Amino acid sequence: MKEIILIKNGELALKGLNRATFEDVLIKNIRKRIKPLGEFEYRKEQSTVSVVPISDDIDMDEVSKRVGRVFGIARYSRALQVSKCMDEIKANAPKYLENQLRFARTFKVEAKRSDKKFPLTSPEISAEVGGAILSAFPNLKVDVRNPEIIVTVEIREKFAFIRGNQLVGAGGLPTGTSGKATVLISGGIDSPVAAFMMAKRGLTLNAVHFASPPYTSPQSEDKVHRLLKQVAAYSGSITLFTVGFTEIQEAIRDNCPEDMFTLIMRRFMMRIASAIAEKEDSKALITGESLGQVASQTLPAIACTDAVASMPVFRPLIGNDKNEIITVSRRIETFDISIEPFEDCCTVFTPKHPKTKPTLQMLEEAEKSLDIDALVSSAVENTKVTVVRF
Ligand code: ATP
Ligand code: MG
Repeated sequence: MKEIILIKNGELALKGLNRATFEDVLIKNIRKRIKPLGEFEYRKEQSTVSVVPISDDIDMDEVSKRVGRVFGIARYSRALQVSKCMDEIKANAPKYLENQLRFARTFKVEAKRSDKKFPLTSPEISAEVGGAILSAFPNLKVDVRNPEIIVTVEIREKFAFIRGNQLVGAGGLPTGTSGKATVLISGGIDSPVAAFMMAKRGLTLNAVHFASPPYTSPQSEDKVHRLLKQVAAYSGSITLFTVGFTEIQEAIRDNCPEDMFTLIMRRFMMRIASAIAEKEDSKALITGESLGQVASQTLPAIACTDAVASMPVFRPLIGNDKNEIITVSRRIETFDISIEPFEDCCTVFTPKHPKTKPTLQMLEEAEKSLDIDALVSSAVENTKVTVVRF
């Protein structure tokens, strides 16, 4: 007797993608994620992918938690594999599903037989297992129309499987099926959420972080690392490029009009991130910007930063309020890290009255005295690479 994980095809987000490739990528992603927990076998039957533990004492709660964070799965189930013997099924169903059944008021049993030689018919199996559950939980009632818990008993070729209600998966598309993108990650609340949202659409992630020591501290780099680790629990490992930004920020401070500091700095971020992304075959940038949230995120400001990016810039939070962003950040457990008080390079040399209606001409004029190409290539060359594993 052991517990397994079942993922039904109907619960995969398949539209428009080749099913076989999709399933293979999904299985590869699950495999990577749970490999440290023990040895598993993966069975692909017509309509189901099963994850079956081979080694003993695997922590199935942890397996289930990790599978619940793999993109591409809308719902999945934990199921108990037992021998095809009615006594064993009846004895185990109430025990195995105790946590779900104890607090429910109504349930029903659905039986499925792919082994047509099994001595009982599906209605007979349902009736017997239903009876066993009712005697274990006398307060429960059967409701065939709208039950709180659906207990499914499946009789297959070698084994029988018992499962209760399905669990909600992470949704989205399997990581890697949409290509690769580079997220500009700060230590704030927004960019880790933006990274999570785009990884959900099947993108593999790289990340770029700008650090300005000594104005920013080693702790703020560590914070970014920990934020990415939370995102990597969903997206898989992330390659992080940490760019030294001090020289550029000082050049801006010394040579440019104060009210444009932030915008000029953001344009440098876009240029450098584009250059790093191109080298890594990454086809888009991702930021945590939300329209109008701060002076550098007004429409004219965004137009000016976009103008220097060499690839599409995805801003998945553009239409979200802060509250909505915070809800997601709590769910993916980045919020508590994001609110730790460390300086970001954005808060160094911030203008007292930033321009909210810039034009491209104004910015190009303001940047004139800087040797943009030299500053960008020197920053790209002096980049530190680390891999953040889930
Ligand atoms: P966040 O909460 O993500 O820091 P924010 O609301 O503080 O966002 P800004 O500081 O204006 O907004 O930054 C806007 C976006 O620019 C961020 O979401 C992020 O994508 C990028 N960004 C800001 N600072 C950095 C940094 N130090 N390194 C890399 N990207 C950054
Ligand atoms: Mg920020």
